[in-house]
Amino acid sequence: MLRKLLTQTPSSRRLLSSTIPFFSKSSLSSLSSSPEPPTVEDPGSAIGTTISVDRSSLFNPPDHSHESTPDSELVKHLKSIIKFRGGPISVAEYMEEVLTNPKAGFYMNRDVFGAQGDFITSPEVSQMFGEMIGVWTVCLWEQMGRPERVNLIELGPGRGTLMVDLLRGTSKFRNFTESLHIHLVECSPALQKLQYQNLKCTEESSSEKKAVSSLAGTPVHWHSILEEVPSGVPTIIIAHEFYDALPVHQFQKSSRGWCEKMVDVGEDSRFRFVLSPQPTPAALYLMKRCTWATPEEREKLEHVEISPKSMDLTQEMAKRIGSDGGGALIIDYGMDGIISDSLQAIRKHKFVNILDDPGSADLSAYVDFPSVKHSAEEASENVSVHGPMTQSQFLGSLGINFRVDALLQNCDDEQAESLRSGYWRLVGDGEAPFWEGPDEQTPIGMGTRYLAMAIVNKNQGSPAPFQ
Ligand code: SAH
Repeated sequence: MLRKLLTQTPSSRRLLSSTIPFFSKSSLSSLSSSPEPPTVEDPGSAIGTTISVDRSSLFNPPDHSHESTPDSELVKHLKSIIKFRGGPISVAEYMEEVLTNPKAGFYMNRDVFGAQGDFITSPEVSQMFGEMIGVWTVCLWEQMGRPERVNLIELGPGRGTLMVDLLRGTSKFRNFTESLHIHLVECSPALQKLQYQNLKCTEESSSEKKAVSSLAGTPVHWHSILEEVPSGVPTIIIAHEFYDALPVHQFQKSSRGWCEKMVDVGEDSRFRFVLSPQPTPAALYLMKRCTWATPEEREKLEHVEISPKSMDLTQEMAKRIGSDGGGALIIDYGMDGIISDSLQAIRKHKFVNILDDPGSADLSAYVDFPSVKHSAEEASENVSVHGPMTQSQFLGSLGINFRVDALLQNCDDEQAESLRSGYWRLVGDGEAPFWEGPDEQTPIGMGTRYLAMAIVNKNQGSPAPFQ
C-alpha cells in the first residue's frame, strides 16, 4: 500500500479544533496436486528494505534467513491445510488466512496502524482526508435529493478515524447527519472495539446490538460482510484502503500456458511458491479479466494478478446502488490497467518476504480499477462508473487547498507544520522536498499513486468532482 510508502516518519496528526469553520453550505455544491509442482522464482519483498525505496527492489528479495523457531499457530494451520488438501493452496487462500484468520490473522487481534503499528493510512495522516470525504458524501446526498434516511456504509474502517472526521466535518449539516444510519463492515473484533471507542459510542440496546455515536447522535451498526447490511434504503458506501486487502490470485505464463502461482511447503518445511500443474478454478476469472484488457495489454502479459473477491464485492455494491439509489467511493492505491505482480508484505514499516512469518505482516495488492469498473457495469444497468482520477485531483477539486488555508489561520507552529506535511503527503507526488531526516526515510506523496473511483445510481448524474 502506498500507506506503506509514508510510514517512516512518525504520525504527526494533530486534530485542530472543530470550531475552525468548515465549508459553508454554498461551497458544497485446487487444483490437483502433483508430487512436485515446479517452483517459481521467489517474488517476495526485500527484507529490511525501508518503505521509501524504489518498489522494483520488492521483486528480487534476498532469501530470508531460516531460523529454526517453532511454527506459529497460523503457520501450523496453513501447513495443515496444505497437508490435508494434498497439495498447495492459492496465493489468495494464503492471503485470506494471513489477514483474516479468526485466531491469528494480521488484522484480527490488534491495532496495526500508526507509527507504533505496521503502516499509516491517509485518515491517520491528516484530519483533512476524512473531512474531504465528508464533503463528497454531502454533495452526493444533495444529488440524491436529500433523502431522510441513508445507510452510510464504510468497508474496513480501521480505527474509525475517517468516519470520526467525516461526522465532525459535516456536523453543521443537521439534515444530513440526522439522515444517517452508519454501518461499519469490519472483520476484526479488536478494530470494531476501537471504532466503538473512537466514535464515542454508547450502547442503546444491548439486545439489538445497537450503538449510537455521540459525535452526531447517529446509530451505528457493525457487520462482518456487506451482505449483512440491510438493503432497500438509499446507500452511500466508502471503501478506503479496503480493496487492497482483498485476496488476489496470481497467474504466470509458462511453457504449459497460464499457470496459477500457489503456496506449498518444501522439503525443508518452509513455504515456497510453485506453479499449478493444471488449470485452477480461478482461471475462469482470469479469462474474464483478459476480455477487459486492451490489445496492447494482452500482448505484453506475462504475469496477471486478479481479485475475484473484489469483482464479487463490486457486483454486490453496484446491485445495491442500482436498486436503492446512492453511490460508492473507492480510494486505494492501484492502477488504471491490468496488474501483473503487486502483492507485498509490510511489517513495522518495512517490506518483508510475503512467505515470512505469516500473520505478523500486512499483505496487500494494487487495486485493478478497470476490473472494478467492468464488474460494476456488468452487475447493474442502473449505475454509472466515474474515474479513476488521482487522489490529488480528487482532493484538490473538492477544495482541500481552501481547507488547509482555513486551518492554518488558527493554529500554533507545531500544528501548522503537521498540517503542511499532512497536506503534502495527501496530495504530493514523489519524495518530500521538505524532508530533512535520513534519506531512506523520506516520505513519498500519495497524490498520484492513490486513485479515486465512484459508482453511482444513474439517477444521480455525475458525482462531484467527476463532472
Ligand atoms: N480504511 C481504514 C483501514 C484500512 S486497512 C483506513 O484507511 O485507515 C483495512 C481494513 O479493512 C481494516 O479495518 C481491516 O480489519 C478490514 N478488513 C480487511 N479485510 C477485511 C474483510 N475481508 N472483511 C472485513 N473487513 C476487512
